[in-house]
Amino acid sequence: MYKLRTKMTASYIAVSLMIVILVIVLANVILEFTFQRYVMNAQQKNTEQLVQQLSDQYNSSTSEWDYGALDYIGMSALEKGLMIRVKTMQDDYIWDAWTHNNGVCTAMLQNARENMESRYPHFNGDYTEQRFDIIADGQQIGVVEVGYYGPFYYNDNDLYFINNLNRMLIAVAFFSLAITVLFGAYMSRRLTMPIGKVIHATEQISKGKFSERISIQSKTEEVKNLIASVNHLAESLETTEELRKRLTTDIAHELRTPLSTLQGYMEALIDGIWSPDKERFHSCHDEIIRLNRLVDDLANLSKLESQNMTVNKQAFNLYALMERTRSNFEAQFMKKGIRLTLENAYQGSICADKDKISQVLVNILSNALKYTNQGDAVTLSTRKEDNDTVEIIIQDSGIGMAKEDLPFIFERFYRTDKSRNRFTGGIGVGLSIARSLVLAHNGDLSVESELEKGSTFVIRLPLQ
Ligand code: ADP
Repeated sequence: MYKLRTKMTASYIAVSLMIVILVIVLANVILEFTFQRYVMNAQQKNTEQLVQQLSDQYNSSTSEWDYGALDYIGMSALEKGLMIRVKTMQDDYIWDAWTHNNGVCTAMLQNARENMESRYPHFNGDYTEQRFDIIADGQQIGVVEVGYYGPFYYNDNDLYFINNLNRMLIAVAFFSLAITVLFGAYMSRRLTMPIGKVIHATEQISKGKFSERISIQSKTEEVKNLIASVNHLAESLETTEELRKRLTTDIAHELRTPLSTLQGYMEALIDGIWSPDKERFHSCHDEIIRLNRLVDDLANLSKLESQNMTVNKQAFNLYALMERTRSNFEAQFMKKGIRLTLENAYQGSICADKDKISQVLVNILSNALKYTNQGDAVTLSTRKEDNDTVEIIIQDSGIGMAKEDLPFIFERFYRTDKSRNRFTGGIGVGLSIARSLVLAHNGDLSVESELEKGSTFVIRLPLQ
């Protein structure tokens, strides 16, 4: 297993090494090709010049050669690596590099061979001779045999140039490799450093330290998103953990109240302080109902959490459902002295899971009942938004909620402090269940509320 940093640096080096090798090879191939052509062209030009110079040394009117000039031309050709032999039409050699300076000729050839073999170990070259006619005033006056190391050769300067260029290319290669290593190490450090922080943070989170947050900023979009996600995850876990702790205390608290009341009642009955009459049993029964409601809430919630919710859609009349819910609640509202009205209802039908929508209405209406005081009013109504959606509005003029609480009331087990102080018996799951049910219908559940003024819950449902 390699570290990301090692891998990244290694790939940077591999890529730059490949590029450098490619450049060196290509440069050499192209350079060699052009340079060889250049050398051959130069040799060709030299030879042509030489032939021209030789023809200039012949005086047509006297039919005489300028031997002094021939000697000079022959020597300077030799310096360029050309060994010439000049012949008259009568096959007489009037200038011959080999006889003139055999030692230099051999040394020249030897030097050319060494130069070429140092560059190309298997160079297949040897002494080569070319013949050219020497023409003066349109008439052939002789022949020159030009000998050299062929097919072509590099002199010391050529070799120096080509080797130097290669050395420079290799130096550039090493230099760019060094830069790549430094740059690669820097870049991978920049990328892996925040990832290291993320790993550290997730380790802390997995150990239960949900308050851990990653504070560093990254300019890389993916890393930035990763940091945001991990921070968000930590935040959610922190909230859930807080809610879980709160729930345990809440459940204990909620269970304790009816249980100790029941215990007290029972003890009073056993000790004979209370006579076992209908009223006493009613009191016990109320506490048992309260306990049952709590257990039902918990069971409902675990059912919601454990299964993928299936929505059994059917067409039904929304007004009929709302009217039935209203009449089911009527007695309880009347008992508490709250007016419950159903107005302006949408008369058409809706395609949804009837039981689930009924459950949503029940949850919200039970809250309205719990958090509304005597003399206040609760109104049920509907509004058809457009051709596709209908809104069910449940408005109460109850205790309302503080602005700070509104973002949380749909969270599981969340209860506002105001509701905690009341003897209401909920555990804070009613609304989260209601919202899950509405979301399963691709709908939306929202709330507007003001402390001491009341709350308005709006259920938006698609008609189909
Ligand atoms: P609970 O079982 O406590 O009623 P819910 O999930 O139904 O749980 O509601 C969460 C919290 O939202 C309640 O504890 C209460 O504080 C607040 N709440 C819900 N409905 C109303 C309402 N109509 N008026 C005032 N507060 C409300």
